[in-house]
Amino acid sequence: MPSFRSSLRSDSLPGGPIPLLAALAVAMLIGACSTSLLGGDASEKTAAAATPAAVDSKRLLGADKEPGSWMSHGRTYSEQRFSPLNKIDTTNVDELGLAWSFDFETERGIEATSIVVDGVMYATSAWSIVYALDARTGAQLWRFDPKVAKDKSRHACCDVVNRGVAVWKGQVFFGALDGRLIALDAKTGEVNWEIATVDPELPYTITGAPRIIRGNVLIGNGGAEYGVRGFVSAYDVESGDLVWRFYTVPGDPSKGFENDAMEMAATTWNGEWYELGGGGGTVWDSMAHDPELDLLYIGVGNGTPWNQEIRSPGGGDNLFLSSIVALRPDTGEYVWHYQTTPGETWDYTATQHIILAELEIDGVERKVLMQAPKNGFFYVIDRATGELISAEKYMNLTWASHVDLETGRPIETENARYLDGPQLTFPSYLGGHNWHPMSFNPKTGLVYIPVLDFPANYGLPENFEYKPGLPNLGIDGITGSLPDDQAERDALGALVKGRLVAWDPSKQEEAWRVEHPGTWNGGTLSTAGDLVFQGTSNGEFVAFRADNGERLWSFPSQTGIVAPPMTFEIDGEQYVSVNVGWGGAFALVFGEYVQAESMPNVSRVLTFKLGSTGTLPEVEWTRRVEFNPPAQQADAATIREGYSLYQDICLGCHGLNAVSGLLIPDLRGSAYIQNQVAWDSVLRDGALRANGMAAFGEQIDAEESAAIRAYVIQQAWRGQALAEGKPQP
Ligand code: CA
Repeated sequence: MPSFRSSLRSDSLPGGPIPLLAALAVAMLIGACSTSLLGGDASEKTAAAATPAAVDSKRLLGADKEPGSWMSHGRTYSEQRFSPLNKIDTTNVDELGLAWSFDFETERGIEATSIVVDGVMYATSAWSIVYALDARTGAQLWRFDPKVAKDKSRHACCDVVNRGVAVWKGQVFFGALDGRLIALDAKTGEVNWEIATVDPELPYTITGAPRIIRGNVLIGNGGAEYGVRGFVSAYDVESGDLVWRFYTVPGDPSKGFENDAMEMAATTWNGEWYELGGGGGTVWDSMAHDPELDLLYIGVGNGTPWNQEIRSPGGGDNLFLSSIVALRPDTGEYVWHYQTTPGETWDYTATQHIILAELEIDGVERKVLMQAPKNGFFYVIDRATGELISAEKYMNLTWASHVDLETGRPIETENARYLDGPQLTFPSYLGGHNWHPMSFNPKTGLVYIPVLDFPANYGLPENFEYKPGLPNLGIDGITGSLPDDQAERDALGALVKGRLVAWDPSKQEEAWRVEHPGTWNGGTLSTAGDLVFQGTSNGEFVAFRADNGERLWSFPSQTGIVAPPMTFEIDGEQYVSVNVGWGGAFALVFGEYVQAESMPNVSRVLTFKLGSTGTLPEVEWTRRVEFNPPAQQADAATIREGYSLYQDICLGCHGLNAVSGLLIPDLRGSAYIQNQVAWDSVLRDGALRANGMAAFGEQIDAEESAAIRAYVIQQAWRGQALAEGKPQP
């Protein structure tokens, strides 16, 4: 690894907490932190450009003149994730091989799109750690760890992930999980400025990538599962000063409104949503920008609580939940909105990836915005006016029959709102499509969507009390859990599917599909080489033909892939790169399926080029849960209470029905279930805070803690019996 060593100068380690020799030793221990330089250009220089990340409006607006770079999150402001590079194509993709890999230190979900510009790759891992790597070799130039407190994970509904950085005039910007926006010197990785974008006392998080328009860095946040009021902010790239902020839901009307849009939105709400955490509506991922129309598009999330009957009794559209909102990028002024799911009550966010394109529809060229939000409809919208052009089902959804094009509103099916009893509903709260980016290929005219196809059982809770700092979904956790009966569980499991869908947005119909073995698969990349790249949950990185879905090439990634790939070119050589490492919401919650179908987490950057033949070191990993449950001493009523509490509070990290996705310990095999004192030391007092398990003593009393433990013990006995092929206790 000569290149790695030569690049690891002591001055390349910001803050300098790691002595050079120690860093080298660590690098060797973990199998080289890491560049396995497999492509053979060890003698080439690894230094970055003199002025790295020298991106400005001119370069970003001219991104197609510089196709070798990937300078912003979706490559261009249109967020198409289409690369004009075509040296790797359908005729030679089978010669693609691993050029280099780089090991992250984390073992949680990896969701970032890397930025590559001026010879440097900027990648992020779980826990919001940022890396600058030589894009040709993978040699580390610098690394920055914002040192997010591990117990902040209690507010991360969907893993401690990060989706990437933005770069601008020599600075690298990213949002840390704890809500800070941080500007780093692109050359050194040292902090230029950092600010709190949210009230640190509230359960906000940041997982999304910033975008930059004309010197304003734009950032949203998450937290609507817990109870927050969503907004998006713009900060000055140089000073870090707040330029504007747009709230997505109204605050307490008695205190007045920030703007006319909030006053209008407030007429669509009932009750006291502002007392239930703030209504939700977080802007946790998608943004796009049309410079000609001078519009910024943001995708808005679900409400707090999910259940509208609690959030806004008697209904109402609850603007701007589950909406696409167009704003002026310089001022944050509201221009138009389109709401995908009026009165949302299923966690059907519209934060999913937004793509801007020009489409010929009925013989007329239209400037459109496209989104496949969680609710299962694919929307084509006039992006100048917000007018709905068309909407069709891209997956098997059941909550609505269709969208009325006159009114732009969905026609809901009977009991869709589960007010008259539990309702098994497609899609689930993870959506028909989640955050995993889709891509659009202007050559084929197709959008490549990573589709999820499985239901959730929604039901009203027996009673609901808003609990600050805890999940506040307002649905019945037991109704939404896995059935006790194993045959029923298996039947439900058979409905859980994932696929790659090529969607024709002009005709609003599927062009082709590829069914995947697993459910929670990666985002997609389209290229002018007539290829679609996607990673899968079962550990393959695959290239498909863009026109018909034929599988042309694959590489075993040793881990589930959820992040989207990207591509770049340096010195005439095209590279394809993907960040790998299983994780995210499905990986945490659906342990039952994950333990059966998926791969462990091995967090890395994998970068490929034609003619390389690199391989990865063998990975050893066992997924067995060692059962050793203590005797059950609780009565049935206590176990039932523990079941309900577990499903309300614990499942987001430890998995439905106490079956973990194994990114986080499976409680059924935990030594801490052996006695109540040990259990309370962790659950109530935070003995494992440094590992990410927060102290819940303020929210969970001793009796409730004992009930949750009793439920986990019951599940451990059940798991042991199943593992041994014995009847369930
Ligand atoms: Ca949500």
